[in-house]
Amino acid sequence: MQRIGILTSGGDASGMNSAIRAVVRKAIYHGIEVVGINRGYSGFIDGDMQSMNLGSVADIIHRGGTILRTARSREFATSEGKTKAYKNAVQAGIQGLIVIGGDGSFRGAADFYEQHQLPVIGVPGTIDNDIFGTDYSIGFDTAVNNVVDAINKIRDTATSHERTFIIEVMGRDCGAIALTAGLAGGAESIIIPEVPFDIKEICAKLMRGVKRGKLHSMIVVAEGAAGGLKVGQDIKTLTGTDTKVTILGHLQRGGSPTVLDRVLAARMGAKAVELLMDGQANKAVGMHCEKIVSYELETVFKNKKELNIDILELAKILSI
Ligand code: ATP
Repeated sequence: MQRIGILTSGGDASGMNSAIRAVVRKAIYHGIEVVGINRGYSGFIDGDMQSMNLGSVADIIHRGGTILRTARSREFATSEGKTKAYKNAVQAGIQGLIVIGGDGSFRGAADFYEQHQLPVIGVPGTIDNDIFGTDYSIGFDTAVNNVVDAINKIRDTATSHERTFIIEVMGRDCGAIALTAGLAGGAESIIIPEVPFDIKEICAKLMRGVKRGKLHSMIVVAEGAAGGLKVGQDIKTLTGTDTKVTILGHLQRGGSPTVLDRVLAARMGAKAVELLMDGQANKAVGMHCEKIVSYELETVFKNKKELNIDILELAKILSI
């Protein structure tokens, strides 16, 4: 393998830059050239790429987002789109491709491999932590730390004003952010898409708390489970209690990656290069029990990562 390509795709996640740096430096260390493809599969189709050197990835290890930028491309889902991208890869002399992104990006990578047999390796980069075969995806730890930071700040206000706060976090189909940040932030209730919730039970808990003199309550809601505003209205209707709703939105994604995300990104990025050097293709990197592992791409996006629901039970017990 003499030259590889790298792109970031789907939603940005902190630590993607650390992964790009790891791929570029690990490849150059082994005498392999690296081409950076801009704007995900869109840039791949447009031929928007440049060669990367050691300096291209200097001073990015601590930066959120992705220097290669990212995009969602409908065209790449078509056979013509993938053929355009393949022609660009051939023209640029790319013999292997590393895709950093979520499961949608992995599907695209697997389809691309099936159509053109260009070896491709996926690196899980998504704040949702919903990718099968890896305990953590790059960006999740930074995102939950961002959420817990916000909860800590909101908690100060909640206590001062003796209020109930509802914090809506990202997670359309996956409650991992809400669950982890809810436990770490000491939320009284956590609402996630995977588990049906009973608003009456939440209200009863709230009222028990008020009765025993609690100064505040925090409810963390994943956006896919229920809108924060709707939960607030329902609580008002059922208890007459006013709530304040904060929708954290895009501030959850960015910021300097945590140590955990940087180390994960470094290890996964390096592993992706090793797999290509080893002649492997159509694989996704993961981390399982502290070890960096790999699976068939198809295995990863055809299986659903199970959320650890025990955490929800634990959070309930600890917020009794
Ligand atoms: P995130 O989890 O952050 O949303 P993601 O990688 O799952 O990241 P998607 O928008 O689902 O984000 O996918 C990224 C891109 O992958 C899409 O815009 C599209 O270009 C490509 N892609 C997704 N699904 C397919 C598919 N079935 N075939 C080909 N390409 C696909």
